[in-house]
Amino acid sequence: MKIAVINSGSSSLKFKLFAMPSKKLLQEKEIQKIGEDDSGIASHAEALDALDMDLAEIDAVGHRVVHGGEKLQKSCLIDTSVMKTIESLIPLAPLHNPANIEGIQAMKEKMPDIPQMAVFDTAFHATLPEEAFVYALPYKLYAKHEIRRYGFHGTSHSYLTKEAAKLLDKPVDEVNLITLHLGNGASACAVKNGKSIDTSMGFTPLEGLVMGTRCGDIDPDIALFLQRELGLSTKEVDTLLNKESGLKGICGENDLREILLREDERANLALKIMVRRIQKYIGSYMVLLENVDAIVFSGGIGEHSAYVREQVMQNSVIENIKSLVIETNEELEIANECYRILKNEDI
Ligand code: ADP
Repeated sequence: MKIAVINSGSSSLKFKLFAMPSKKLLQEKEIQKIGEDDSGIASHAEALDALDMDLAEIDAVGHRVVHGGEKLQKSCLIDTSVMKTIESLIPLAPLHNPANIEGIQAMKEKMPDIPQMAVFDTAFHATLPEEAFVYALPYKLYAKHEIRRYGFHGTSHSYLTKEAAKLLDKPVDEVNLITLHLGNGASACAVKNGKSIDTSMGFTPLEGLVMGTRCGDIDPDIALFLQRELGLSTKEVDTLLNKESGLKGICGENDLREILLREDERANLALKIMVRRIQKYIGSYMVLLENVDAIVFSGGIGEHSAYVREQVMQNSVIENIKSLVIETNEELEIANECYRILKNEDI
């Protein structure tokens, strides 16, 4: 069976084709700058054309969908009602869900008779207990408006959990882990007996760790101060916190490779702030988990930067825990999920 995985971002589309159940990667391609003048590719539908897929050989399609909200907590076949729910979640993921919807619609038009499935970035965190996902805000904001912690990067944390269990030679439902997905976006997850019990991203992917351009945890009053005292609009605050903060905000650069080449104080400060935040999350998750089998490093930074890994582990409490480096593979996890749905079996 051949399963195509489509990951449509706001301006990019990634495609991978897997043979299942062997998990062999048969083909991969990425189209960038969708909708930008110089790319010549105006829409996700055009990007799919540019992939040059052999549609006849595809048996099923798995789509990455960022937000499943409270209603879609498991991977599922996409029907009209699922589409409506994904659309209804646009206010919670205004950049991501519309791009995901475009990818699904374009693929459905091309292949109306092939099963298409949605795999949600939020789904792995559906096991968070109430005390982890309810914010200390007026409760009705959760009850009425579903303002709560959702968590993201779930597909990656789920994949890392299974791979770590294999490396530790333990059943998945017996592993306790702190998984760190450290890319341009970054999140930490506390995994107890194979399930997510806490995670650093929250209502949106802005919360938690210091990221390439996102600030992570800050005092929420700063956003109000920026509007009230500095006269910034809501949109300007949004841009400042999501695109102009994090490593970039501190030292003007969000690419860790470039930061590591620099020797100035600001670059060092950016690294120190990022590392300290990761350590704070590890510390708090150690307390929640009580015993930790391993800390798992992944994502571009976690996989490739020995320096960051060393800095994070350089602590008399943390250094006693085993650390693992695992290359994440969200697309393969999506293909696994699709296969599981179609065959009703785990592989
Ligand atoms: P995304 O979240 O966009 O998928 P990635 O997981 O690709 O991001 O991670 C991007 C980050 O990983 C960047 O900060 C980049 O500098 C960093 N990175 C990639 N390769 C290396 C490397 N060899 N050494 C240090 N950092 C690296």
